[in-house]
Amino acid sequence: MAGTDPIAVLVKQLSRLPGIGERTAQRLAHYLLNENRDLMKSLAKALESTAEKAHECPRCCNLTAQEGVCRICANPKRNTELLCVVARPEDVNAIEKSNEYSGLYHVLHGTLAPLSGVGPEQLRVKALMSRLMGEDAGVSEVVLATPPTVDGEATALFLARNLDQSGVRLSRIASGIPVGGQLQYTDKVTLARALAERREIGGFRPV
Ligand SMILES: [Zn+2]
Repeated sequence: MAGTDPIAVLVKQLSRLPGIGERTAQRLAHYLLNENRDLMKSLAKALESTAEKAHECPRCCNLTAQEGVCRICANPKRNTELLCVVARPEDVNAIEKSNEYSGLYHVLHGTLAPLSGVGPEQLRVKALMSRLMGEDAGVSEVVLATPPTVDGEATALFLARNLDQSGVRLSRIASGIPVGGQLQYTDKVTLARALAERREIGGFRPV
């Protein structure tokens, strides 16, 4: 029976992953079976142990498999005056790779999407507010790094309004023309924002 054949089960399980159709699932399964049994075993081990251990960091809500707080929250060298709010755990990795940021994070696990029923209660907003009033009261700047999409902007605006009275400085990540990009291929919203958020260079201050 196909349903109990382990290879068929593997293909079926792989095809449940986002962005993986059945054909890709088959290709992956055959790659693992033919070329890389070691990878298969270490993958299985990694999946099992993270499924058991992964949890949300009690401080920043990022996913971690460490006991207690995550690696970033536990690092005494991080700048505890800066806190960057992101939508997803992947965004933390992306910002870490830039090597431009050494502060703390807060992961919302999504953006506000009222039409899909995602309100502030579905996100880690309450956790953000309470850490800013409690253990992270020393934060002086909150960087709103939700994505520059309609939902991401609405989320940033919502947080900005809620944090307005808190006394922390608020900033929003800039967005604009990608490095290596051409102005003529840039959509008008991005171009307008790039102009609106232009910054000073040399001795000239834009007005
Ligand atoms: Zn953490």
